[in-house]
Amino acid sequence: MAKAKRVVADCRRFPSEKNCSLTIAGTEKEVLEVAEWHAVKSHGHKKSPELRKAIRGMLEPEK
Ligand SMILES: [Zn+2]
Repeated sequence: MAKAKRVVADCRRFPSEKNCSLTIAGTEKEVLEVAEWHAVKSHGHKKSPELRKAIRGMLEPEK
């Protein structure tokens, strides 16, 4: 049985003033959810479809 593909969101690739080093790994659905929450809570972003799109754009396949 094939495992769900895991992706990684590396906060260091996101321009930020906080030098955040968080990396989130999991399925795309999991990562999107957590990364969105993190962007809002820690980086003061507004929850929006644009934010979700930006996060999706920085997802990478897990190595
Ligand atoms: Zn961060």
